Amino acid sequence: MELNEKQLNLLKMLPGIDHIIELSKTEPSFFNVPRSVLLLSIRKTVGKLRNEILDVSHGLNEKDLTDSMVIEKIKDVVNKAMTPNLKQVINATGVVIHTNLGRSILAADALANLDLIAGNYSNLEFDLEKGERGLRYTAVEELLCELSGAEAAMAVNNNAAAVLLCLETIARNKSVIVSRGELVEIGGSFRIPDIIAKSGAILKEVGTTNRTRFQDYAGAIENETGLLLKVHTSNYSIVGFTENVNLKELVSLGSKHNIPVMEDLGSGTFIDFSAYGLTKEPTVQDSVSAGADIVTFSGDKLLGGPQAGIIVGKKDILDKIKKNPLTRALRIDKLTLAALESTLRLYRDPEKAVQLIPTLLMLTIPVDLIKKRAAKLIRLLTGIKNSALSVKPVDLNSKAGGGSLPLIDLPSKCIAMKIAGMSANFIERSMRENIPPIIGRIEDDNYIMDIRTVKEDELIIIKDAVTAILRRN
Ligand SMILES: *Cc1c(COP(=O)(O)O)cnc(C)c1O
Repeated sequence: MELNEKQLNLLKMLPGIDHIIELSKTEPSFFNVPRSVLLLSIRKTVGKLRNEILDVSHGLNEKDLTDSMVIEKIKDVVNKAMTPNLKQVINATGVVIHTNLGRSILAADALANLDLIAGNYSNLEFDLEKGERGLRYTAVEELLCELSGAEAAMAVNNNAAAVLLCLETIARNKSVIVSRGELVEIGGSFRIPDIIAKSGAILKEVGTTNRTRFQDYAGAIENETGLLLKVHTSNYSIVGFTENVNLKELVSLGSKHNIPVMEDLGSGTFIDFSAYGLTKEPTVQDSVSAGADIVTFSGDKLLGGPQAGIIVGKKDILDKIKKNPLTRALRIDKLTLAALESTLRLYRDPEKAVQLIPTLLMLTIPVDLIKKRAAKLIRLLTGIKNSALSVKPVDLNSKAGGGSLPLIDLPSKCIAMKIAGMSANFIERSMRENIPPIIGRIEDDNYIMDIRTVKEDELIIIKDAVTAILRRN
């Protein structure tokens, strides 16, 4: 590569590593930085500057290479290295169960128990009555049975693990009958056909995408059939000319042929959402009382707890699952278990649960309350008194997310924000780069914040972020 005179000059100017190490010794903001981090940051910065000199499109100049400029750049790299990668964000998307933003946030009780169990020894696998080894599932099994009406229960790492484990235990080397209308894909590459293949079972599809009848299932049963599987189509809906077989009918078919029936509910809830003006999602109790042998669902979707996969059902099958060596690889950890137990305890009083479990509260909150909070944010923002800023309330819909309540739009109050001289993309990015990051969306060239998922104490943080962005204008 032919370098021009300016490039050669700049390369000569680029400070040496040793020189910068010397300089950094007197820089107070580096005093508490581990030496390894500082060295790595210096090397990274100098390497990056060298590349920028070699690629003229960066338009680097002499003034970019002074000692103080280089130290400033190193400070940025050091800062980034010293702040945790996983950080709190403000969810202004209105999507309550946002998989990319961590799905459900935990109830206060769950957080407190998490803290207690994580910071101390516990009876995780110790039976305090007998003084001998116990099972970790004991913490939630009884509660899950009480809430669902099932004979037995356990919890594993997540629902994907729960489905895999059940299939592997019940149907390995056997066929699993599933309707073509229920061969779902969930985000993050969970596909029912793939998980069946991985479990060692053989998928037997029946019916068509839009219509599957009882006779389709009945006609597909053979000697090798190990399981009838029903999957809740949690993130889409087939409408129009449709037909499907309900769980009760499948259970009757299964019991006639002595074949177990499993339902993967996906989201899974103990609450009847129709009582709150939302569409009813199938509840775990419904599936159990319809006679399913096994029901699986997530801990962090509509349930509003930590990431977990919950299995409830008949005792003889659960006994087999608990003995499956795969269980050890998919087991729930103690922190999750602590948070899950506390979350489940709240469901004993469903009305309280809806108030105390943030996911449920955000899904069922009356739009008037969102409106009040939005009005408060508008007051805070107009209080900045900057003529470049314009904010107005808009009626838009929020989504439940997490593959639940797929078809319903929840009427919400949003704030549409514009700043003269800034594109919506620029605003979106600046808000995302705030500490803590604020995640909104763009619609019709407006920056939109949906207040359904914004907490009261986060309003002031949003105001400060907007103030800072306006200052850069
Ligand atoms: C979400 C979902 C899963 C996967 O659950 P995770 O807890 O995310 O592993 C499986 N099946 C269905 C139907 C789902 O909706």
